[in-house]
Amino acid sequence: MNHSGVTVWLTGLSGAGKTTICDALEAALRARGCKLEVLDGDIVRENLSKGLSFSKEDRDINIRRIGFVAHLLTRNGVIVLVSAISPYRAVRDEVRQKIGDFVEVYVSAPLAVCEERDVKGLYQRARAGEIKGFTGIDDPYEAPLSPEVDCPTQNETLEESVEKVIRFLEKSNYLPAA
Ligand code: ADP
Repeated sequence: MNHSGVTVWLTGLSGAGKTTICDALEAALRARGCKLEVLDGDIVRENLSKGLSFSKEDRDINIRRIGFVAHLLTRNGVIVLVSAISPYRAVRDEVRQKIGDFVEVYVSAPLAVCEERDVKGLYQRARAGEIKGFTGIDDPYEAPLSPEVDCPTQNETLEESVEKVIRFLEKSNYLPAA
């Protein structure tokens, strides 16, 4: 398989569809024989970032750690799929600069849609005041200004989202055309 290393960074609100797209992308890329690794924000927080809070400072540390690992893998030819809310633009851009081969995918379903989906029941708990500092409710989300790929999952199917990312990777020569 003649692909090169790249970090595909999915950012967006909770419930926007990052994990769903990431899982489908993983399957599609594995079927093409790609070497890949997935860094899921929730799983990183149970391991590499265990004990970190959701303060701005700790969120930034978490993203820098994910970025560090993604960089090591990317420079060794791996396709890294990162799925993390990563709400702050500055640290996303910092990680982008470090990694270089970086494709930002903005999973851009708006808050109302994410809250309606409420996949994990977290929005309801945040609205009830049981969770403080929840992104989109009482904590900021800074949307990317020029993401490589935009996936408004309220308007497109999972297949369309995955196809857009794959097409972008092909167009940018990270992945040979199918
Ligand atoms: P996140 O990882 O961003 O918190 P999830 O992937 O866990 O979000 O949840 C997104 C929800 O939205 C899932 O229930 C998924 O089935 C649904 N969904 C609806 N349309 C789409 C789409 N086009 N792409 C991705 N997810 C979608």
